[in-house]
Amino acid sequence: MLAERMKNLHPYVPGEQPKDRPYIKLNANENPYPPSPQVQKAVVAAAKKQRARLGLYPDPDSLALREAIATMLNETGGVLCRTHTDGGKKNGSGSTCAPDSADRIPFAVTSDMIYCGNGSDEVLSFVFYAFFNSDRPLVLPTFTYSFYPVYAGFYQIPLERVPLNDDWSLNTEAMLSAANAHDTSMIFANPNAPTGRGLTRNQVRALLEKAPRDRVFVVDEAYVDFGGESSIPLLADFPNLVVVRTFSKSMCGAGLRLGYLVASPELINAVTTVKNSLNHFPVDFMAQQAGIASCKDVGYYVACAKAVARERDSFTAFLQEKGWDVIPSKTNFVFAKKMDAALGKPKNGEDMYRAIKAKGILVRHFATSGIEDYLRITIGTPEQMQALRKAMEEL
Ligand SMILES: *Cc1c(COP(=O)(O)O)cnc(C)c1O
Repeated sequence: MLAERMKNLHPYVPGEQPKDRPYIKLNANENPYPPSPQVQKAVVAAAKKQRARLGLYPDPDSLALREAIATMLNETGGVLCRTHTDGGKKNGSGSTCAPDSADRIPFAVTSDMIYCGNGSDEVLSFVFYAFFNSDRPLVLPTFTYSFYPVYAGFYQIPLERVPLNDDWSLNTEAMLSAANAHDTSMIFANPNAPTGRGLTRNQVRALLEKAPRDRVFVVDEAYVDFGGESSIPLLADFPNLVVVRTFSKSMCGAGLRLGYLVASPELINAVTTVKNSLNHFPVDFMAQQAGIASCKDVGYYVACAKAVARERDSFTAFLQEKGWDVIPSKTNFVFAKKMDAALGKPKNGEDMYRAIKAKGILVRHFATSGIEDYLRITIGTPEQMQALRKAMEEL
């Protein structure tokens, strides 16, 4: 009874959400902090005052939200971890923000450069549909966000996977040769997942300069706010660049399902055409209100991103002290393996994952060959990480 094309589907498996006991959840790279109190207020106020509004279709193009996102990017440079604030009220709420000089975007981001959708996973699927052909392979690293190969199967786009360097950084030379050999697009996360390593903006610029100019080049910045370098400033020189971003990680909003693109208006129009051919209203009214309120209180998220980055660095030091091999991370997670000093090789990753789960803490283990010794551990609150430290010491 199933259509032929169903054979190409290999669905993504998200971090588990067990209900058998209240685990400390460090397995899905969610932010441990709740959204800003302003978001709750905006949602409640919208539901109360605009009850009739819920019976009407939302703005199909999320214009007010796209304007709020553009303003937020101009105020922060797109990297919350380095954004300067005047401190505001408690937790940074109500702060005025300014980008660090290194992050300043050399042009004003405008709403026609933003596309907003129902989580960046949905936005990515439209990117695959709009820009990648099935007549040539898409170039991506062997280890990167594992949803990309799922979409490639969905849209029947062949892949050319390029191995990472020994230190887990992107092999930029090999990525370039592959893209040029096939005259094709590339996609990667920067910083990359699950490794946590990032390219500098100058490294991305060097890639863009030598990659095919008339093929779309996609950089997924889901984690950039925790210490990476954004490629948004490169849009001034590269109209083929598409930057993917999400509210799920640094904006404490995984439950809101909001993701967006920053790109030239021409490419934004193409993705909007895909959207209007598939689902006219992907972002519901309440999510639009919540997103606008989030952007207007970005100082709160600056404080959260800084807290997460601080905790990541102190947890990394703890792991190293305890004999773990940790890849230096610019994200809200660490990727690490426990070395067995006596045997001079890593301990079994799945055993470590199970032992930690038995202590009530969920981390992520990938059974994929090449990374099976590693655990991906999301950075939680200082209290959650203290519980994890204790559990690890007891292993
Ligand atoms: C989490 C993540 C996403 C998905 O984000 P949503 O907006 O929640 O769909 C996209 N890309 C990468 C690299 C991610 O880690």
